[in-house]
Amino acid sequence: MTRHLHAKAGSTPVSTSLGTQEHPLRVAVVGAGPAGFFTVEALLKASDLACSIDVFNRLPTPYGLVREGVAPDHPSIKKVTRKYDRIASEPNVRYFGNVTFGRDVDRGDLLRHYHQVVYAVGAQSDRRLGIPGEDLAGSHAATEFVAWYNGHPDFTDRSFDLSHERAVVIGNGNVAVDVARILVTDPEELAATDIADHALDALRRSRVREVVMLGRRGPAQGKFTSVELKELGRLEGVDVIVDAADLELDPASAAEAEMSRVAIRNLEILRDLAARDPKGPGRRLVLRFLASPAEILEADGRVGAVRVERNRLVQAGSGTIRSEGTGDVDTLEAGLVLRSVGYRGVPIPDVAFDSERHLIPNLAGRVLDGPGGSVMPGEFVAGWIKRGPSGIIGTNKPDAAETVAGMLDEVQGGGASAPERPAPEAMVELLESRQVRYVTFEDWRKLDEVETMEGEKQGRPRVKVVRVERMLEIMGR
Ligand code: NAP
Repeated sequence: MTRHLHAKAGSTPVSTSLGTQEHPLRVAVVGAGPAGFFTVEALLKASDLACSIDVFNRLPTPYGLVREGVAPDHPSIKKVTRKYDRIASEPNVRYFGNVTFGRDVDRGDLLRHYHQVVYAVGAQSDRRLGIPGEDLAGSHAATEFVAWYNGHPDFTDRSFDLSHERAVVIGNGNVAVDVARILVTDPEELAATDIADHALDALRRSRVREVVMLGRRGPAQGKFTSVELKELGRLEGVDVIVDAADLELDPASAAEAEMSRVAIRNLEILRDLAARDPKGPGRRLVLRFLASPAEILEADGRVGAVRVERNRLVQAGSGTIRSEGTGDVDTLEAGLVLRSVGYRGVPIPDVAFDSERHLIPNLAGRVLDGPGGSVMPGEFVAGWIKRGPSGIIGTNKPDAAETVAGMLDEVQGGGASAPERPAPEAMVELLESRQVRYVTFEDWRKLDEVETMEGEKQGRPRVKVVRVERMLEIMGR
């Protein structure tokens, strides 16, 4: 990095030595999920940069969706936390868990204490279907079901009615596959995972025998990845039902599928599933395509059935293939509906928001003052709140690298403003003066040890603590 930095006209001049040992760059990262950790990693790897980074997280526990989103029966995906642990152990990285942005610290506080702030807060809500009956009791966002079975403290007290024989899952992405799989998997298999105990108890009592997954477009347009789809066919005691007629593609879909390795592989897997004879009498997972929910019907004040409309595919002007209702409708009785049509970003206090795209407006990670607006010096984004809720965990690595490149450019160009209180002690003083019960990474390690020790006793990776008060007690805060 060139060390001859110049302040931008109109901003407070910065020292030309910013980012050196004498004058380290101070960075706040809001959010300790994959996007936050990969941002820290990219900063640590930046050559010729001395920095000190504070990571803030709303929950006491780190890792974001790796802990609260990744399915409990996918432990290998969670191994990435070992890397995050190494990152958090670096002497110039501090973790402040149990700190809520906008309540315990706000944007102004961070800009007063850091040269640069990165918002990596993810997408905290879900997309809506916009159909009648969506809000009936028994109709839930799949993201809530996921958070519940993964022991997210905000969802511990939710309940999901598993007393009806059929559940309907709407959507054809990996989250839909996850929730459908958890509903049909033998709970005794889940008992060996880190699934939350309350969810395991409920799933052991579940009467759900059939899960119907509805894809509004065809099998060539499924958003699920092939490994996840293939896994469905290996579930013990579960018949996966695919109608071979659904796999006959229209010419546009066939042409589109030819261009995608994932679509080709998915179609092979689906053909294999369609050719199988159901073994019965276990659970069934039915994959229906070209089917949209038109309405969720009520029975006794709650979900009783789903009216499903058959779709056809049409080519939109942009060349994309979209679905269109045919008017041909059937009704599926069901007691539970999980709407798995995508996560959705929500605004955070005092930071601009693009309410059409549901993300913080940005140019390659530099926050803008509005969609299409000007760059806000010192403010950056990474992960889902930057690009929308897409991709796998690893996608956040190049995403964070792009953001960090912009941060380094800003430092080099003298665009970073000078905070009033950059000393690391100043943030601790602020949190303590406000009596914020923040936790450190060492505190988290205590909880981690308790969870894994309890897990060892039960032959599980860990037994999750699912209440914040109990977490803080164990952490000694
Ligand atoms: P997603 O991949 O975007 O899938 C959303 C699904 O909802 C699509 O099939 C979409 O259909 C459908 N949909 C949207 N609006 C709809 C509507 N109004 N009616 C019916 N269907 C509708 O989202 P996701 O499943 O929530 O996953 C989020 C991200 O996390 C993805 O990138 C996913 O791969 C990732 N993830 C990965 C894993 C893993 O690696 N194991 C696990 C979970 C999640 P259209 O295609 O027609 O829009």
